[in-house]
Amino acid sequence: MVNAWVTFVIERKSNAIAGTLLLGAACLLSAHSAAGADLRLYTLDCGHATFKDMGQFSDTGEYDRKQGDIAVPCFVIRHPKGVLLWDTGLGDKFAASKNGTDMGATVHLSVPVTLLAQLKSLGLAPQNVSYVAFSHLHWDHSGNANEFPDSTWIINRRELAAAIATPPPDGIDPATFSAYKTAKTQLIDGDYDVFGDGTVRILAAPGHTTGHQVLELKLQKSGMVILSGDLYQLRSNREFMRVPAGNASRAETLASMNRIETIVKNTQARLVVQHDPLDFQALPKFPAYLD
Ligand SMILES: [Zn+2]
Repeated sequence: MVNAWVTFVIERKSNAIAGTLLLGAACLLSAHSAAGADLRLYTLDCGHATFKDMGQFSDTGEYDRKQGDIAVPCFVIRHPKGVLLWDTGLGDKFAASKNGTDMGATVHLSVPVTLLAQLKSLGLAPQNVSYVAFSHLHWDHSGNANEFPDSTWIINRRELAAAIATPPPDGIDPATFSAYKTAKTQLIDGDYDVFGDGTVRILAAPGHTTGHQVLELKLQKSGMVILSGDLYQLRSNREFMRVPAGNASRAETLASMNRIETIVKNTQARLVVQHDPLDFQALPKFPAYLD
């Protein structure tokens, strides 16, 4: 029906009008194929932590006195309009010690390769990172933040306000992200479309901390991918909706789990539990990427 109508119009009207129609069709096609095109998600190894007691990861006791590991990835998102770094890891200073570093008697940290070296292998210097954003400002996500003084820092307003309180809340080391004071900052109050085309969106998911958030990516081949931040720390936390003891708000955490899981269902998204070693291993091994 439509084709017949177009043929009729092209035959009856001048070449100029036919040309306009064709041009319009071409624009529609290219706008459509541009959604998610050239968007790449790289998973960088920004550290690992081994716990003698994983008890802190649930306030209902399932992990008490059990050993376990978590991964601490960083993510580089390459978009035609710029580069976003999502979370900045434990900190490259920990890479100096080859056998890792004890934190107290119960936690062992290791950073096998620096974030800056991994960026370099992608041809990126810190000043090529257009935006830095954080799922939240706990020190295991802000470790390398100060390496990016020339980037625009996208920060949740409530998250920053809570993180710079005196004394700092548990898990916050203000020295790791002090460069926000002189960097260009974009303070946000909720969901935020990073590049303005809907392909890379920060979604508010408070509870772990006051301004906690997750990252939603609309990839052309892989479909929707959501990076969890600390909405969950382990696959089993997701399966059983377990809430860590130190979360800012248990009620907000459960509400955020509910919201994000509904989005996962609606968009058939792949949710990546950032700290879960199995989810980390399941992502393409750097420098391979999802697109
Ligand atoms: Zn964390």
